[in-house]
Amino acid sequence: MSRQIIDLLITARWTIPVIPENTVLEDCALAVNQGKIIGVVPQSEAEKRYQAKEQVVLDNHILIPGLINAHGHAAMSLFKGYADDYPLQTWLEEHIWPAEGKWVSPEFVQDGSELAIAEMIRSGTTCFADMYFFPEETAKAALNTGMRCQLYFPILDFPSAWAQDANDYINKGLALHDNYRSNESITIGFGPHAPYTVSDEPLKRIAVLAEELQAPIQIHLHETTKEVNDAVAESGLRPIDRLNQLGLLSPLTQCVHMTEANNSDIELLSTTGAHVIHCPESNLKLASGFCPVKKLQDAGVNVALGTDGAASNNDLDLLGEMRTASLLAKGVSQDASTLNAHQTLALATINGAKALGQEDKIGSLEIGKAADITAISIDSLEATPLFNPASYLAYSQCSHQVSHVWTNGKILLKDRQLQTIDEQALREKAQTWAKRIKASGT
Ligand SMILES: [Zn+2]
Repeated sequence: MSRQIIDLLITARWTIPVIPENTVLEDCALAVNQGKIIGVVPQSEAEKRYQAKEQVVLDNHILIPGLINAHGHAAMSLFKGYADDYPLQTWLEEHIWPAEGKWVSPEFVQDGSELAIAEMIRSGTTCFADMYFFPEETAKAALNTGMRCQLYFPILDFPSAWAQDANDYINKGLALHDNYRSNESITIGFGPHAPYTVSDEPLKRIAVLAEELQAPIQIHLHETTKEVNDAVAESGLRPIDRLNQLGLLSPLTQCVHMTEANNSDIELLSTTGAHVIHCPESNLKLASGFCPVKKLQDAGVNVALGTDGAASNNDLDLLGEMRTASLLAKGVSQDASTLNAHQTLALATINGAKALGQEDKIGSLEIGKAADITAISIDSLEATPLFNPASYLAYSQCSHQVSHVWTNGKILLKDRQLQTIDEQALREKAQTWAKRIKASGT
């Protein structure tokens, strides 16, 4: 029998495909052709079935689906460490918004996005969800670097360097949506910033347009108790109830944060099919509160994982975020079995894919899915002994061991070296921005 000619064969010591659940495969091979996974087979079988144009042997590694960072603001990487140790409102109103007013431009977003993408690739992320000004620049950075992304164009009542008012934001965003309508790696959705920054009329319009276009919506929601209490004092409604009345909650909707979630909020999420994006490190750093992950999952709500922007984290390391999410969920639920290692990996892979409406394309190592793959080396002393590869990923600090990353079968990181980004040039650009920002005193 003649062997099938394929583009790439990756053999690895351990493979965690995420689907089927709770599975760890030993000495397995992934066959990749035309950007897709076409086989997940034992290594002995692979040699008989495939003739690969390129073979990568990773015999001291764990293979997992590329990680999905379900919420962030990539360009804010240029504000990393710029304003620390403030609560959300002070951080936003007295530090971040004034700095953004002064610095955000197409060039800022282009360079900041590239910096964020480089960090994400080096820590195993292959797809990121992003809400920021000048999303057309983030899209270009993703295209240039080979990264997959879902971009939500921002919508606010007030002006910024990108748009003047809510309708202007929406119209610019719709034009971007049109431009990327048939793009395989980049999808465009609606990013109403938060209930307290967008009024009813634009929110209603977004609900109608998103339904019409079947485009995703991402919104910061119930980030703090103060947000909920202020809204109740002003309107008598909890923000999530207001969104529901405006027709904004559906399986297309991704609610970011939800640290404040009572039983009726959780029921509403469950019945409408809206998703929750959990950003534990940002919530901890801004002292915003704790998202009740176990209660949400018990109610059948899909929970995905995000880092939020690097200005409130201060890194984009999703493996580190997994560790924080798992430890925090155990502490909050007072149940050590909450978010076990496999469930924690699911948060950063298949659950992210579901939230982004892309579970048929990414989030697991299955036949027919895109070849978005991450490899983590296990040859260090820190990884020895290795009783359980999933446990190593969830509970150890292993992002510096990410060795290889592919999206659509194309290599983005090889032996820890970025393949689509000039690291030296990028470092110089980031340092130039830092000097300018520092010199201006804002
Ligand atoms: Zn955010």
